[in-house]
Amino acid sequence: MIQDQTRIQTDIGPAMQTALQAAREASSCGEVPVGAVVLAPDGRVLAVARNHVEGAHDASAHAELLAMREAAACLQNPRLTDCTLVVTLEPCPMCAAAIVHFRIGRVVFGAYDPKGGGVEHGPRIFERPSCLHRPEVIGGVCEREASGLLKDFFRKLRKPIAE
Ligand SMILES: [Zn+2]
Repeated sequence: MIQDQTRIQTDIGPAMQTALQAAREASSCGEVPVGAVVLAPDGRVLAVARNHVEGAHDASAHAELLAMREAAACLQNPRLTDCTLVVTLEPCPMCAAAIVHFRIGRVVFGAYDPKGGGVEHGPRIFERPSCLHRPEVIGGVCEREASGLLKDFFRKLRKPIAE
């Protein structure tokens, strides 16, 4: 059991690096830089996704939602019991609710999102009495790197075209 825990912990670092890489890819495509990875209970990567709202013309195409859908398709199971979702930004209320539906076992996120987050901020979906499934939550993993990507992205957006 202890061995399992250790293995799972050591999987988080590389998974977050993969998620950050997906976030950078999103940024280079003009998408808000958020990336997500779903790990199977044994630590293997089931899905990697990035924010795809603009490209897919889909306001719900958030990285973690796409990654969970892909992982569920991969497992041929709508429930991702004991799987870990690693995402660069605190999930929004929509994604937090989806995390409950997918029965994700653990959520690891990078940057906190005081304005748009739904886990540690806003509606705090998992803390509601009506919440039927509460995943374990670990926030602030590679926080500086994850929030740096977002800050750079929005700084560039605000820049005038002719400089
Ligand atoms: Zn979301």
